[in-house]
Amino acid sequence: MNKVGDIVKIVKCMGNNSFFPGYSGNISVYEDPLLLISSSGTDLKNITTSDFVFLECRLDSFQLKQRGGGLVPSSETPLHIKTYEKTGPGCILHSHPDYSVVLSEKIDEIEFRSEGALELIGNKIEVLPEFDAGSLELAEKVSDYLKKNEVALVRNHGLFVKTDSLERAVSLTETVERDARQYYLELVIDG
Ligand SMILES: [Zn+2]
Repeated sequence: MNKVGDIVKIVKCMGNNSFFPGYSGNISVYEDPLLLISSSGTDLKNITTSDFVFLECRLDSFQLKQRGGGLVPSSETPLHIKTYEKTGPGCILHSHPDYSVVLSEKIDEIEFRSEGALELIGNKIEVLPEFDAGSLELAEKVSDYLKKNEVALVRNHGLFVKTDSLERAVSLTETVERDARQYYLELVIDG
């Protein structure tokens, strides 16, 4: 199976620039023993098959790659590694969707109302506190939350989704953002 090609195809299908403003966001797939992750500075909107790095799913392997020359794995790699250590193989999609991020600054949890979200995610997700991007504190907090939830929303930062399949990761990300947009618009209209 051409895993890298699959990832590129699926991420490009998201087709909406508001998920990955600038060069933000990252994506990984972990199938024991190898972790495949987008490289630092990748533009996910225009991702290609040469934007990926393979490494072992260990922090020291990440540090080696950082020093080793060549493509550097995403600075959020420690969060991906910590999450896989606690939850097992699968994939992680990290995005900065506009409405989810704006709402995360104002409220402590997002309650879902659409049938799709209720079915896929449940009633609500809480907003996790803000930590520096790429920090071990953020990695610990998010990976702990992802032990019991597929979706984590970090204040003033973005969404981290850990699932068994890429399709589901994209679907969850799009669903949260769609409901967040709806919620935001209702807040604006209701004043
Ligand atoms: Zn981020």
